Amino acid sequence: MPKANPRHPGFPIPGGPELRARGWRQEALLRLLENVLSVGEDPDNLVVYAALGKAARNWPAHRAIVKTLIEMDEDQTLLIQSGKPVGLLKTHAKAPLVIMANCNIVGQWAKAEVFYELQRKGLICWGGLTAGAWQYIGSQGVIQGTYEIFMRIAERRFGGDLSGRFVLTAGLGGMGGAQPLAGRMAGAAILCVDIDAERAKKRREIGYLQEIAPDLDAALAMIDAAVKEKRALSVGLVGNAAEIYPEIARRGIVPHVVTDQTSAHDLVYGYVPKGMSLDQVKSLRDDGQGQLMAASRASIVEHVKAMLDFQAKGAEVFDNGNLIRTQAREGGVTNAFDIPIFTEAYLRPLFARAIGPFRWMALSGEESDIARIDDLLLDIFPHNRIVTNWIRLARQHIPLEGLPARIAWLGHGERTALARRVNELVATGELKGPVAFSRDHLDAGAMAHPNIMTERMKDGSDAIADWPLLDAMLLCSSMADLVVVHSGGGGYAGYMTSCGVTVVADGTVEADERLDHALTNDTSLGVIRYADAGYEDSFEEIAAKGIGHVKV
Ligand code: NAD
Repeated sequence: MPKANPRHPGFPIPGGPELRARGWRQEALLRLLENVLSVGEDPDNLVVYAALGKAARNWPAHRAIVKTLIEMDEDQTLLIQSGKPVGLLKTHAKAPLVIMANCNIVGQWAKAEVFYELQRKGLICWGGLTAGAWQYIGSQGVIQGTYEIFMRIAERRFGGDLSGRFVLTAGLGGMGGAQPLAGRMAGAAILCVDIDAERAKKRREIGYLQEIAPDLDAALAMIDAAVKEKRALSVGLVGNAAEIYPEIARRGIVPHVVTDQTSAHDLVYGYVPKGMSLDQVKSLRDDGQGQLMAASRASIVEHVKAMLDFQAKGAEVFDNGNLIRTQAREGGVTNAFDIPIFTEAYLRPLFARAIGPFRWMALSGEESDIARIDDLLLDIFPHNRIVTNWIRLARQHIPLEGLPARIAWLGHGERTALARRVNELVATGELKGPVAFSRDHLDAGAMAHPNIMTERMKDGSDAIADWPLLDAMLLCSSMADLVVVHSGGGGYAGYMTSCGVTVVADGTVEADERLDHALTNDTSLGVIRYADAGYEDSFEEIAAKGIGHVKV
């Protein structure tokens, strides 16, 4: 039975043993589509997160996808082009059920303005990373990544944790909403600025944010007290980051860590310029795009200058993957890239071994299935410090949203081992239903994103998009259930290409084969991509795990 969804009553949370589709594979993908809307930011408009990241092109397209998933057979493949189903073709039972190409625009045309025009004509939509691929699991999706970044900073600069440290950030949206909880888990006193009071309230309601301060003075007093007492605390503040960051700097206060996760990548549908209300911004989105883009960029310039100011005074400042430095540089801040990107600064050694955000969703809708898989992880990987620490923290702190799900950073071999064991537990009935596995597009072999994932690769191969394309073809050959190629839309147009994958553990022998091939080959390609760029860790991984790398 689906469960009621108090936040979005029209979008119940799927679950239960009854199938509407002709098999669990089809049913699983249908539930994942329902799930991204049930936990999404604005499901009435099909928007899941990141301002414009949509689950389907429009409501007729959505209805046609649902109908097709219910009626299709296992030996057919559904083709989706930018959120619209365009074909249902006979393939074979080992082929993917769904393949998608979302928002891929030819190079010279891949610009925000062209995207907005194509979107206005109803010809395209942006799938974000996990929205269009039906893989979003709520704010939990990025939380371990954010936590691991904070912990790397803590280890390098602050003796191991962030207690007694002030973290300043902004953005409490679909992904940024993970920041207050990740900061608190790392021990910090974290202040999160958001222009939209509703977003702050939502994060407090679902347990990601503790307090909302009435004004900046009160917020800083709360943070100051927590820092002095070395008490972990998350505080939200409703305001514009382009005003609040410079004001904090003007007062001579220097946070220990500064970042930002507003939707700075999109100057029309994401970032809110200072001095404008949300209603004013909305009214300009159709007819005043040029004015809005100029105003957003001018505000981002001030926002980033304040971040650079904090950096010059000793704060650890980083770009958290929202293109804010790129926007500022376009606005004339020539040294915006003095701020490092989180991937290169903190996580690259993990990516070089294809360790990255891997996630699973309990299609039964039962939280006990996730708890059982947590136990399994601790059993299988007792010596993996990142995993054991994470599962202990996640169990204690992370509220589940929508279909019960978990994310953990796992690498080559680990993902496959976990998924195949889970498939056995589904087969023996120890779990209440099948489990879907996917991973973030921000993964070793899966993404070319030269200002985020692949910035400053050792060999300069930052902008080469062959890797995610190879990954998608490899995953189709490896029997994955859903395979997708995404490129950037809105402000990300022209900035990235990525590949996503989902494989369903339904307890069958065929699922075991799919999980084994798809997950093993996906991370193999990740390690090979970094080896090709010259990372030593990748060569070690290839030798230790016998990955089929061809040396030239
Ligand atoms: P979202 O659109 O759901 O939320 C953005 C939030 O920023 C909103 O709550 C909005 O009110 C707020 N905001 C906009 N302008 C503001 C301003 N001037 N001052 C204060 N608040 C402002 O987006 P999201 O899903 O949370 O993603 C945020 C950004 O992070 C996007 O650019 C996204 O692409 C990026 N992202 C990065 C990673 C990563 O791996 N690090 C992962 C996911 C998303």
